[in-house]
Amino acid sequence: MPSYPSLNLFIGGDWMKAKDGLPVVNPADESVIGQVPVATRAQLDLALTAAAEGFRVWSRTSPAKRAAVILKAAALMRERIDEIAFSITLEHGKPYQQARLEVIRGCEFFEWDAAEGQRAYGRVIPSEPGIRYVVLHQPIGMVAAFSPWNFPMSQPARKIAGALAAGCSIIIKASEETPAGALHIARAFQDAGLPAGVLNLVFGIPSEISSYLIPQAQTRLIAFTGSTAVGKHLTELASRHMKPVLMELGGHAPVIVCDDVDPVAAAKVSAVRKARNAGQVCTSPTRFFVQEAIYERFLDAFVAQARTVRVGDGMDPATEMGPLANHRRIDALEALVADARAKGARIHTGGERLGNRGYFFPLTVVSDLPDDARAMHEEPFGPLALINPVSSVEEAIGKANALPFGLAAYAFTHSARNADMLADGIEAGTLSINTLEASVAETPFGGVKDSGYGREGGAEGLAHYMVVKNVSHRMTI
Ligand code: NAD
Repeated sequence: MPSYPSLNLFIGGDWMKAKDGLPVVNPADESVIGQVPVATRAQLDLALTAAAEGFRVWSRTSPAKRAAVILKAAALMRERIDEIAFSITLEHGKPYQQARLEVIRGCEFFEWDAAEGQRAYGRVIPSEPGIRYVVLHQPIGMVAAFSPWNFPMSQPARKIAGALAAGCSIIIKASEETPAGALHIARAFQDAGLPAGVLNLVFGIPSEISSYLIPQAQTRLIAFTGSTAVGKHLTELASRHMKPVLMELGGHAPVIVCDDVDPVAAAKVSAVRKARNAGQVCTSPTRFFVQEAIYERFLDAFVAQARTVRVGDGMDPATEMGPLANHRRIDALEALVADARAKGARIHTGGERLGNRGYFFPLTVVSDLPDDARAMHEEPFGPLALINPVSSVEEAIGKANALPFGLAAYAFTHSARNADMLADGIEAGTLSINTLEASVAETPFGGVKDSGYGREGGAEGLAHYMVVKNVSHRMTI
């Protein structure tokens, strides 16, 4: 059986210890499984120096050679899938099979971006004779990146893939609560022969690291995934130093269920999807707006499916939904359910912590919530499904757009007219119809409104990691 790795910083191509440690907790039994090092100021300075040299070397490496290193690292991660998935389940709690899928997804991000990095074409602008206008796309420089705990491997993968494929160097501060996912990535790149300093991995006190790295002259892009509140804070800090940002923030995904579909089939896939990662996904389907004609049948089928979800330790092959990743989520969910109940909503199943050891919380279904219920406008970031009736698709679109969030949105319909109205009217970065998959490596992903700024993945994903330079060249003076 694999073991949980010892946790170190990765700076300038070397693994480094740090004096202080923060405990890493297994959310299934609350045992301490490791100590994550806290980088000192001197170690951050070392990372900055290393990243400057890493950028000098990597930005001058041909895109084909860069792609070869990234693909080799991805191949190593695929070979090590069991070991990486084991670490993820231990530190995050998700079922082992879901952890394996996360590793595959992370590898797909690397593989897609490695190929895209070779197609970062500029252009030649038609001009009068004697002068050439050439538009170059060049790597932006060193990236300061911050990744969260909900996908310990695929979240840092997205940012490292974008930076490295574009020819940038990166200092990434991955989550202190789930550090091993990023550590396995760094190990694979070290073994794949990535030049020293191109990828640097640090941990510590998040606010101290971000406030130190962002103002540095060599930091040219701030890439963050996490809550809207922290994203706004980092964007303010970045704006004081005129740094561009890439912000993937919170969501509160609406699901519009039209009355031309089979409500039982739509409810079953929705409940299964809601349980993925215990709902701790920024694209998790959350606010269900169901047309009245099929409302009760959809609700009954959803509740019946939710009651079948087996909650337990992610290492148990029978488990379908693991514990929540930390105690904060339990507190947040219990508060949202209590508020909904007090405001007259119906709690059909779940709603309370399971047991008192491990952060287990069942798939919870709440219906008929008033608009002022907190859960209807605060992102639950957990296994909470909110189901309400609507009289028309137009009304559902209005409710879907009523929040400041606009990340993922979903709909079930076989009507071309409904689909067209939804595609035009929904305010979100992605709309998925008859599927609850919001993003894959080849499609652009990101939000509008408070859900963030910029796109990762797809042909658009590398744009933030590059600058556009126009070269005007007259043949004679
Ligand atoms: P939080 O707001 O305390 O932290 C969110 C993330 O930001 C964490 O990874 C944290 O380490 C990091 N962070 C916090 N302050 C920072 C700073 N000053 N500089 C740099 N990084 C900083 O919330 P939390 O309890 O960890 O997570 C709960 C909320 O976060 C959820 O409600 C959800 O909205 C959001 N979240 C979103 C995603 C996503 O994929 N968009 C992922 C994880 C969490």
